Formats: sequence, structure tokens, C-alpha cells
Amino acid sequence: MPKLNFKKLNIIDAGKIQKLMTAQTSPEEIKDILAKGEGMKGLDLSDCAKLLAIEDQELLARLWQSAKKVKLAIYGPRLVLFAPLYCSNFCINDCEYCAFHVRNPARRKKLSLAEIKEQVEILEAMGHKRLLLEFGEHPKENTIDYAIEVIKTIYATKNGRGEIRRVNVNLAATTVENYRRLKEAGIGTYQLFQETYHRPTYKKMHHGPKADYERQLKAVFNAFTAGIDDLGIGALFGLYDYRFEVLSLVRHAKFMDKVLGVGPHTISVPRFQSAHSVNLALKYRVSDRDFLKLIAVLRLAVPYTGMIISTRERPDIRRQAFAIGVSQASAASKTEPGGYKKAGRQAVEAQFNLNDHRSLDEVVRDICRLGYLPSFCTACYRLGRTGDRFMRLAKSGKIQETCQPNALVTFKEYLEDYASAETRRIGEKIISDHATKIENLKIRQKLESDLKKVEQGKRDLYI
Ligand code: SAM
Ligand code: SF4
Repeated sequence: MPKLNFKKLNIIDAGKIQKLMTAQTSPEEIKDILAKGEGMKGLDLSDCAKLLAIEDQELLARLWQSAKKVKLAIYGPRLVLFAPLYCSNFCINDCEYCAFHVRNPARRKKLSLAEIKEQVEILEAMGHKRLLLEFGEHPKENTIDYAIEVIKTIYATKNGRGEIRRVNVNLAATTVENYRRLKEAGIGTYQLFQETYHRPTYKKMHHGPKADYERQLKAVFNAFTAGIDDLGIGALFGLYDYRFEVLSLVRHAKFMDKVLGVGPHTISVPRFQSAHSVNLALKYRVSDRDFLKLIAVLRLAVPYTGMIISTRERPDIRRQAFAIGVSQASAASKTEPGGYKKAGRQAVEAQFNLNDHRSLDEVVRDICRLGYLPSFCTACYRLGRTGDRFMRLAKSGKIQETCQPNALVTFKEYLEDYASAETRRIGEKIISDHATKIENLKIRQKLESDLKKVEQGKRDLYI
């Protein structure tokens, strides 16, 4: 990667973005842009700005339709599931939106390795295979050594047939050397959110080391230099105008593609939620309709980038988001360190409040009822299909030949080992429906044989 001067580069050109946000358009032009989006080659910034300006109901309905088509063509019916694991809420930053801010007098908690093991066993007993680790920023409590020990502990923790096969990490911006160590520890995606791309708002919202806008923006580039090529970006919607954030996310993604040769693996779309000891008067709260609109626009703008939704969102919003663009979702989450051990809904130590409190089994059943296919697949990263290798396969459409059978086999594992009787009944039907749709005879035969092997007790089969 070439040496980049982020201050000079002005990757997020606010003046240009604000100007695009005022551009006029016509229904005819919107229809042309949607047709271009359906071509699955992405959209440029001015196209996105025009789609974000749609207010007309009929054009919005067309936007949902186009996003749905692209979602289905690239991701099929699959929806990958994971859970966050909050390791420590010690934090030296004072982010205005987050309950882990340093002024919060609530008790701090950093899980010991024994507690990590205990949390992981609970998550494995639910059926989870992928985790996203979350840490506050604290140079003494949440060191890179601690993060590495946590990752090692997670991979070593088995509970019956349960195991975690992919650990993604969301940890404060750090050095290339530290990213290298995370890579060696076997992480999947490294995620870091810009929160807001609007500099004046960024400045208002952050106090502490995270207040350095450039540090946050260039973190994924440093991680790439260290060899991590599955990278996740995101914005916290509600801090500033959602249209500005979407255009900036697309710009960030395109810039990554240009200099790294691969765009982001995922984009996350967290929406601000109330949180203990957080009193933010939000001028830019994002309505449900605008939230769905931004998901659809992102789907068309960066069609090969996975999109993640969390349990911050209500089940009805999640259902709509699955249809128009989201490809990964968390389920049965807790946002406080140690949360999976506790009964009850929400503790004051949590980072923010959640709106989907269903169990993994309930979420899985709901997904099946909608006709989607829950996936616990972790194959790509374990076979080295990451970064541009993954993107090349995705863009050629070949990835479908592996993703679909892998989703079916990992879902079969879930049904055998963890599902309730009702989920199992519905899930088996989903598996047989989707299995018969696989056209390539060789792949279908291999799948049928693997599904039988899972029934006979074999685990962790993938291609
Ligand atoms: N401490 C690291 C950092 O700041 O980059 C890790 C991220 S934090 C554990 C995970 C994410 O939660 C943040 O990046 C932020 O986008 C989101 N978040 C924080 N407060 C939130 C709130 N009140 N509502 C919704 N999401 C929130
Ligand atoms: Fe700390 Fe991250 Fe929360 Fe900011 S968002 S207070 S850095 S945990």
C-alpha cells in the first residue's frame, strides 16, 4: 500500500458531499439510476445522493424492488448469524453517545479468561459459531495482549459439539504491529466505525484519543498493511445527517477499493439507541423509513459489500432490512461484559439499549418463516478466501456455488444440535426446498452426502 497523507488527501470532501446533497433530479433519472444499480456494478456518489433524496412513495417502492433484486442475485436467501461478545467496558474516551464513556460512574467490568470461557460456552450452547468481540479503549486494561489471550481462549473453548469458528474484532484504532498480532491470532474481520464522517460533529462527539478523526479513518488501512484484508466500516446513524454519512461511507469504500485493491468486506449500520447516562438531544434522529432507504441505497452502491444489522433494531425493521440489503445479523445479543450469564433484559453496565430480545432459536425460526436461509458458515476465511480473493469470487458469481451448500450444511448442524422441535420442523423444510434448487448436479450430490453425514454426527464440513 502506498504511503498516504490522510490530512492532505481529504478523502471525505465535505464541500463536495454537501453540494451533491442539494442536486435536483427527476423521476425519469431516478428510474435510470435504479436500472444502473440493478446492473450490480455499483453507483457513483451523485447517483447515491439522488436516490437518498427520494420522497415519493412510488419511487421508494421502486427503490425497494431494485435493492431486493440485487440482494437476491448476490446473496441469495442466506442470512449469516453471529453474536457480539463484550469483553471489557473500561474506556478512557468520552464519546457523547456511548454508556462506556469515562464519566459514567457505573461499575466497570473486564472479563477474566475464565469468564470469557464461561460466556463462550453459553453462546456455543445456543448454537453460535461466529462472534464479534467488543472492547472499550483502555491502554492499561484492554491491551493487545489481553485481546490476544481472549481470542486464543475463545478458539480453544468447546462445549459438546459447540465451537466458535470465526472471531471478528471491534477494537479501538491501534498500530500496524498490534494489527499484525491480531492477524496472527486468527481474527476474521477487523471492524471500526467512523461514527460520523462530519468533522465538526465528530469533534463535538469525541473527547480522548478517539477524538482524532484521521486516526479513526486510517485504521482500516493500517490493519490492511498488517495483513488483515477483511475490513468492516460503519457509521453511527443519528449523529449527523444520514445522507452525508451514506455518501461518506460510499466514498470511504471506494477509496479503500482504489488504494487497497479491495473494498470493505462489510458495512455496519448501527442506529443510535438510548443508553445509561447518555443525554444526547438528537437533531438528526433517523426515521424507520429513512433507515430502510439508506440500506437500500448502500445495497445498490456497493453490491458486493456485506451489510450488517444488529439487535439495536426491532424485529419488524430487521425483517424489512433482510429483504432489501442486509446479509448478516446479530441475534440474542447482550451489550454488557458478562451479559450472557445473567437473566433478565438489560443491565446498567450495557453499552446501549436493545430492541430485539428474542432467543437465537426464535430469530432462526422467524428467518425461516420469511423464506430465508440462516447460515452459520465460516468457510471462506478458514480457506483463505478473504480480501480480493473473496471479492473476485463474489463478483464472478462463483461464490454462490460454495455459499449456498455451506449455509445449508451449517444450518443442518444447528437444527441437529440446538433447535427446538418447531424450528427443526420448519428448518428441515427450508433445507430440502433450497437443496433441490441447486442446479449443478455434482454440487447437489456432494451436498446431499454432507447433509447425511451431519445427520450421522459428522461436523464442520465445508467447501
Ligand atoms: N471502543 C471501540 C470504538 O469506539 O471504536 C469499539 C466500539 S464500541 C464497543 C461498538 C460501537 O457501538 C461503536 O463503534 C458505536 O458505533 C456503537 N455505539 C456506541 N454507543 C451507541 C449507542 N448509544 N447506540 C447505538 N450504538 C452505539
Ligand atoms: Fe469507549 Fe468506544 Fe464507547 Fe467511545 S464508543 S466510549 S471509545 S467504548
